[in-house]
Amino acid sequence: MKKFDGVDFLEIDGLMSEDEIAVRDLARKFVSEKVIPIIEGHNRAGTFPMDLVPEMGELGFYGATIDGYGCAGLSNVQYGLIMQELERGDSGLRSFVSVQGALCMYPIFAYGNEEQRKKYLPGMATGKIIGCFGLTEPDFGSNPSGMLTTARKDGNSFILNGSKMWITNGGIAQLAIVWAKLDGVIRGFLVEAGTPGYSTKDQHGKFSLRASVTSELAMQDCRIPAENMLPDAKGLKGPLGCLNQARYGIAWGGVGAAMAVYHEALEYAKTRIQFDRPIAGFQMVQEKLAWMIREITKAQLLVLQVGRLKDKGTVKPEHISLAKMNNVHIALQAARMAREILGANGITDEYQSGRHMCNLESVYTYEGTHDIHTLIIGEAITGIPAYK
Ligand SMILES: Cc1cc2nc3c(=O)[nH]c(=O)nc-3n(C[C@H](O)[C@H](O)[C@H](O)COP(=O)(O)OP(=O)(O)OC[C@H]3O[C@@H](n4cnc5c(N)ncnc54)[C@H](O)[C@@H]3O)c2cc1C
Repeated sequence: MKKFDGVDFLEIDGLMSEDEIAVRDLARKFVSEKVIPIIEGHNRAGTFPMDLVPEMGELGFYGATIDGYGCAGLSNVQYGLIMQELERGDSGLRSFVSVQGALCMYPIFAYGNEEQRKKYLPGMATGKIIGCFGLTEPDFGSNPSGMLTTARKDGNSFILNGSKMWITNGGIAQLAIVWAKLDGVIRGFLVEAGTPGYSTKDQHGKFSLRASVTSELAMQDCRIPAENMLPDAKGLKGPLGCLNQARYGIAWGGVGAAMAVYHEALEYAKTRIQFDRPIAGFQMVQEKLAWMIREITKAQLLVLQVGRLKDKGTVKPEHISLAKMNNVHIALQAARMAREILGANGITDEYQSGRHMCNLESVYTYEGTHDIHTLIIGEAITGIPAYK
């Protein structure tokens, strides 16, 4: 298949600086050379490509917007472009980097104290310390405020009890950010792997995000030092602040997955002959390809504007919800169309579209389901919350 060299129907590259394009091209090269050749094998085996972890650290992908502590100090648009390219490779790889940076390094940076930052961030920037983010519980997904996990102060320690589910990187993490209620208020705790009373169990049987580790976390009278609480996160706005960072990256990631399947479907359609002509020449195939490029172009503009607002400091959670829900939705629709254009070949892992399609089902649900983002936008424009 023709080499991937981006999808830019409307000269959107012209809206970006040279520095932004340079970062994107670095990530694009990494994905083309290091990810694409191995990812189907990992997806088939249900394994995460651990070998890529140090190199992504060297490239500055973890906590990329943090200034200092060994991080790259990039703009939000540059960071978004990295997420786009990683998800062009695989949503599982982008999930790894999102969790590491937006869900684990960000709360330590934003809600932690200087000691915590110095202790963990440099190691996380290189990938030597892998993090996971434990918010969701078996009975509390969209409504994390109902969580049952508790923390209790006992002398110079906190004792955690409870369980978390669907935790990306759980089984491979050296550090878990666990959200638990202390006297009824949600607080964030740093739990190091190996702490007595803390255990993980990987979840298997997934048809989605197979090249990503998903685990349950269990805390049973798990005693951690009192200094392992994040001092500045109180209430649900702590974890929601992290989710906003991650959702922003996912919105860019959706563009990357959509680009991958569009590129594959277009190249396939140009060479696949039926009724003595390339299927790209049939109107119904063109209608699908035109739908894809139309939606990809709108998604690119949407996420670039959200990135510009984030860099300016004026982005609102509902802007990020709009971008996450739209871009993942159109990526999933595009993957289904690409799979259809590929015909029977589309159901094999010799092609990428089926893998992206399955992956995007998770991305559609995690970090706030599509419908929950609809309600966030609904609340923003009407002033009336409709969750309950
Ligand atoms: C592969 C994967 C990785 C994940 N990684 C992590 C992680 O690293 N850390 C973490 O904490 N969590 C993680 N999650 C969990 C994820 O965030 C949750 O699955 C998500 O929040 C939805 O929760 P739920 O699955 O319990 O669905 P539910 O909340 O039970 O929702 C089920 C359905 O009901 C709908 N619904 C719920 N409430 C409402 C309402 N008020 N109005 C209308 N519709 C509603 C939802 O939209 C959805 O369609 C991961 C999930 C997956 C699949």
